[in-house]
Amino acid sequence: MLSIKGLCAKVEEKDILKGLSLEIKPGEVHAIMGPNGSGKSTLGNILSGRPGYEATAGSVTFNEHDLLEMDTEERAREGLFLAFQYPVEIPGVSNMEFLKASVDAKRKHKGLPELSSVDFMKLARETSKRVNLDASFLKRGVNEGFSGGEKKRNEIMQMMLLEPQLCILDETDSGLDIDALQVVADGVNAMRDGQRSFIVVTHYQRLLDYIIPDYVHVLAGGRIVKSGDKSLALELEAKGYGWIENEVA
Ligand code: ADP
Ligand code: MG
Ligand code: MG
Repeated sequence: MLSIKGLCAKVEEKDILKGLSLEIKPGEVHAIMGPNGSGKSTLGNILSGRPGYEATAGSVTFNEHDLLEMDTEERAREGLFLAFQYPVEIPGVSNMEFLKASVDAKRKHKGLPELSSVDFMKLARETSKRVNLDASFLKRGVNEGFSGGEKKRNEIMQMMLLEPQLCILDETDSGLDIDALQVVADGVNAMRDGQRSFIVVTHYQRLLDYIIPDYVHVLAGGRIVKSGDKSLALELEAKGYGWIENEVA
């Protein structure tokens, strides 16, 4: 589904990713861990096409398309979804309008008609219940004044509505209390269907007790320096990252 080969990327004239390679097949969950500042969010930003993040070498293929040649909207329509570490607030645009526009754009791409307001409302209400977010949040500005946990629940709700093929969760667990963490994990697990894939960036092994990954990778110095199964996350929790950096050196 996703094939990253020798990816190099820079931000603000600074080289961040230095030859990163990663292969993701349908249905797989890949966890990415690694020290602060190693380039985890940069990877998510490059994959979603965020302005200011520039790929300088290597290739990224998503469902046979050259991802780096696609604009942000095309990537989303093609089924890529990124839940940000810091979800943006869009005051003045209601969450409902925003979600409906996203869902309608996706449906249009598939050749399906727009949902009626009544049908969308029904779907949005059901989905907000699944993430324990009161339906009143649908009327508020996008993320406007939402708490950290509410923003993350809102992101999971958006993800559920859009039914993406590849979901990237960038530290969706950071700053969450145990109940919100459970909501995020339940949301992801409910969406695992053997076809949809996930990249879960996390600092904490704890999330991986709930979302069991197929692979765990360590990103350090702009590259994947070690890969393993879920036991690698436990080893990192116990030993930190220093030993891997030594091993690589
Ligand atoms: P991680 O998510 O692994 O903690 P990031 O990808 O956020 O790491 O950051 C990697 C490096 O790139 C850091 O040194 C960070 O300061 C730098 N960086 C990321 N985004 C920007 C930006 N927009 N402007 C300047 N530097 C950035
Ligand atoms: Mg960070
Ligand atoms: Mg980050």
